[in-house]
Amino acid sequence: MNSSLKLFSVRGIDIRVHLTFPLILLWAAFQFGVLGGGGLAGALFGVTVISLLFVLVTLHELGHSFAALHYGVPVERIVLLPIGGVAQLSHMPDKPKQELVIALAGPAVNVALAIVMGGIALLFGLPLSNPLTSGVSLTFGAIFSYIFFYNVVLAVFNMIPAFPMDGGRVLRSAMAMWLDYGRSTQIAAGIGRTLAVLFGIYGLLNGQFFSVLIAIFIYSGATQEARMVQFRQKLRGYTVQQAYNSQVPILQPADSLREVVNWTARGLTDFPVAHFGSYVGFLGNEQLMSALQQNGPDQTVASVMSKDVEPVSLTTDLYDVQQRLSNEKLSALPVVEYGRIVGIISSRHIRHMLRMATMRPELFPRVQSA
Ligand code: ZN
Repeated sequence: MNSSLKLFSVRGIDIRVHLTFPLILLWAAFQFGVLGGGGLAGALFGVTVISLLFVLVTLHELGHSFAALHYGVPVERIVLLPIGGVAQLSHMPDKPKQELVIALAGPAVNVALAIVMGGIALLFGLPLSNPLTSGVSLTFGAIFSYIFFYNVVLAVFNMIPAFPMDGGRVLRSAMAMWLDYGRSTQIAAGIGRTLAVLFGIYGLLNGQFFSVLIAIFIYSGATQEARMVQFRQKLRGYTVQQAYNSQVPILQPADSLREVVNWTARGLTDFPVAHFGSYVGFLGNEQLMSALQQNGPDQTVASVMSKDVEPVSLTTDLYDVQQRLSNEKLSALPVVEYGRIVGIISSRHIRHMLRMATMRPELFPRVQSA
């Protein structure tokens, strides 16, 4: 994550800004100072308003994050981008009710703030309509008017019922309380794509380039989510035994990274580590790369390997394997039988097996009620 800078942390969650973030501040200074004709004061006003907007975005993301922490889901970081923020959760909980609460918690923060800020704006005698078009002068009080307006915009925009917006997750998880999770995802994605198409057509007809971009963003977000869930659902009933790679070198804790590099030259990227045949750790590709970059090739495998990667067994369902690979952001998992390493399994192996199984289902029987 060298592309972002840490600002501070809240309850162990790092709040970071992406390196492209200052662009939005420059844009705001230009918009209010030059185009708006406000000069230096206008530029400062613009920077203040946009900074406040991002305080709101951060609070929105903290809303999601605190709800996630409440359910024991770790939050890795919050990153602020010029187009908004993302709270990176280690995974989405499987229980629909939890996903629903986490998705609603962000917009709920904006609704609460809108009520408070709207009240203050009214005290200053300011209109609650769009301050950008209703000719509100750039005074201290106007800031509340802007904050009120932006909170409403953030709440409404995020509740559009389409992935990757919060509204898409709300819709899916609400349906998943009664319907099957995969079916709910397909319906939610379908609604999202329909909305995106309508929105895109509207943007094209009205020459609104920005609306067309948002439509494309929503369309691809819905498609991606549907594909990912569909892929995982297809894996149910298949086991590790049908897809794993047993031809993998097993490292010793005392091996040096120099020796591991020789293996990577043959296209191998992830390695189990065993001591007298028993599994003791795992050296993934990312870890190997960063260890090599930081301290060179003379370190031992033992000093850089992960000791907390739980191995899977030959009978583990591939749905669970894929879920763990994406949750733990690993490229592969070690496969163990009776405490001994028998191979590794990665997304690549799983995809390969699935392609074969689609062509020749009789060769890949599925375990029922997995
Ligand atoms: Zn959100």
